[in-house]
Amino acid sequence: GGEVTPEIFVSMIRNVGAAIETHKDWLSELDGVIGDGDHGVTMGIGWSAVGHALDEVSDNDDIEAICKRIAKAFLDAVGASSGPLYATAFQRAGASARGRAGLDGAAMVTFIDAAANGIRERGKAEPGDKTMVDAWVPAAHQAAQALQGGASTLACLQAAARGAEEGMNATAKIAARKGRSSKLGERSLGHIDPGAASTFVTLRAMAEALER
Ligand code: ADP
Ligand code: MG
Ligand code: MG
Repeated sequence: GGEVTPEIFVSMIRNVGAAIETHKDWLSELDGVIGDGDHGVTMGIGWSAVGHALDEVSDNDDIEAICKRIAKAFLDAVGASSGPLYATAFQRAGASARGRAGLDGAAMVTFIDAAANGIRERGKAEPGDKTMVDAWVPAAHQAAQALQGGASTLACLQAAARGAEEGMNATAKIAARKGRSSKLGERSLGHIDPGAASTFVTLRAMAEALER
């Protein structure tokens, strides 16, 4: 069982901030190959702003309210293309949790699916364009499959992280069609997309926080 309460959710998001900090240089290196080399910096700025926003969370805040704070932090702090994408992800994911005291497995799957669809609509990228969508979509898909197999909230999140990891690795096999790296086209082959990588870091850190 184990529902994700608002308190647990905050600890999951704080763990994402720590994981992004740890993987900052890697994310910028990936972006240096096919983009402008700042993805670790933009994510660092965004997640550190999120950390400050979480300090303002009150006992009355449910998961939707917490997600609104996260989205606003991203929007205000990050000018790069990834800022509004992560902001939309949390806005939509939060809205999917409206009225809930916590997230059980089914609500967690809905939450991840809403984030994936939010990013898709906001960035107008589809799977195969070599963006973070290529990590979010298989993450949502594998989480849903795990749920069908009767998985717990934690197991659904772990499945999402695995889906994101596989999706991230698969971006190396496709040429970019969206975002800054689309200018490289075929020359982006062989390199994984930095946004897909930060998506994997995010979902894995959420799962790891819940494992504790
Ligand atoms: P910028 O490209 O402005 O420097 P970042 O480096 O922070 O922004 O983020 C780059 C990542 O954003 C890419 O690796 C890709 O995953 C993601 N991205 C860019 N454009 C889109 C889009 N239209 N849809 C989905 N993801 C996108
Ligand atoms: Mg960049
Ligand atoms: Mg940039």
